[in-house]
Amino acid sequence: MQGRFVGALSSTGSIYFRQAPRHNGGMDLKRFSDTFGTEEQCVEYLARSRWPHGPVCDKCGSISDAWKTAQPRTWACRACQKQFSVTAGTPMERTHLPLPTWFMAIYLIATSSKGVSAMVISRQLGISYKTAWFLCHRIRQLLADDDCTLKGIVEVDETYIGVKRRPDAKSKRDSDDDQPKGRGGTRKMMALTAVERDGKAKARKGSTHSERTIAGAVFDWLDRDTVLVTDELPAYRWIGKRFPAHLRVNHSRGEWSRRDPLAVACAHTNSVESFNATIKRAISGVWHWFSIKHADRYLRELAVRWNMRRMSRMERFDLVLGSMFARPLSWRALTA
Ligand SMILES: [Zn+2]
Repeated sequence: MQGRFVGALSSTGSIYFRQAPRHNGGMDLKRFSDTFGTEEQCVEYLARSRWPHGPVCDKCGSISDAWKTAQPRTWACRACQKQFSVTAGTPMERTHLPLPTWFMAIYLIATSSKGVSAMVISRQLGISYKTAWFLCHRIRQLLADDDCTLKGIVEVDETYIGVKRRPDAKSKRDSDDDQPKGRGGTRKMMALTAVERDGKAKARKGSTHSERTIAGAVFDWLDRDTVLVTDELPAYRWIGKRFPAHLRVNHSRGEWSRRDPLAVACAHTNSVESFNATIKRAISGVWHWFSIKHADRYLRELAVRWNMRRMSRMERFDLVLGSMFARPLSWRALTA
């Protein structure tokens, strides 16, 4: 039921696709490839997204005082007589790939709930694996975390990620029920996760479940007026004292949810556990092979996917496309 009104709930709403059914978000693959099938269609959409008030010259700053030249992607400024491109400063700037290929790759990566491998992109777009890997890498960098802090009621947890699930592992109510085993294991990586109730998520890898590691992440991510909800891990006791309220659930005693009459909120960690489950599903189902070296980028990407979960497909596409224009300078520094 909730899925049918996904588009309408979003504050950044696209006017075209509100109340779209969940199965296609108002823009399925066929319609997307028809809408953005040519270089001209893509350039026009990029120009409207980047310059909603008319083309902006990146040499002199004049607004809406330029004309489109015969050269692809290029405008000429009347004020300074120089030329500028709609893809300047973006990952699309120095690429020989056609824009429809970029658009389709962004669409596929932004709208997938778990992520897409370079192999799938290569097959879907009919490009080489090497090119697909390059595209995926660039687009994933666009899916960087925003700098927002988490507020309200925030659940914090750790989860242990292994490359492969043991075949004898039984599914339990709590997918993180294997934590004590994970803590002692050598082939598992710990990820720290924090999720606002009904809101955004953050994740990063941690080397240990020590107080210092956890406190570093928690103090970076959480607003100081947050109500903190955690399990009974001792490291949280000291951290919890820095917040106005700290609710703990005792999972080892089989306690999953508790409502105290005087407490500000119900004590449970269901939100962070469902986010942790998406991390595990993504790693076992999409990436298969998991490099701990790149773990932080994967975790950031999964947090952004979680944050976009109520947006329509086109809203996700616009968000990723828009992030290309939001940080052109940092992008240049990254590829310099
Ligand atoms: Zn100019």
